[in-house]
Amino acid sequence: MDCPFCKIANGDIPADICYEDDKVVAFADLNPQAPIHKLIIPRQHISSLNDLTSADNALMGHLIHSAQQLADQLGIATDGYRLLLNCNAGGGQTVFHLHVHLLGGRQMRWPPG
Ligand code: AMP
Ligand code: ZN
Repeated sequence: MDCPFCKIANGDIPADICYEDDKVVAFADLNPQAPIHKLIIPRQHISSLNDLTSADNALMGHLIHSAQQLADQLGIATDGYRLLLNCNAGGGQTVFHLHVHLLGGRQMRWPPG
């Protein structure tokens, strides 16, 4: 499968990895939108939020918990940060391997564009 995030998870293309375990990988976004901008992905290929089933509940819980831990390690937990998932073209998704954006290090605005 020609999926860039599967390739990062498998070590086939380089990324600035900041956390990994047997279920998830986190790395720096190539085009950062904030001083801290990481992506947290499941190793398992799931194309989008629309493809989740109840079988993925534990995995998604672990993904969010990993993002929370990473925010703490990066020193942005107290100030605050944003976790974001885009779904399909209308939601702004451009890479079709589910990922959580972790954005921080500046004031976030609402609504997002
Ligand atoms: P989304 O628009 O939610 O699908 O987000 C995809 C994100 O992946 C964008 O913020 C891109 O900058 C980022 N991105 C795409 N390719 C790579 C890559 N090879 N390494 C790191 N980040 C990437
Ligand atoms: Zn993939």
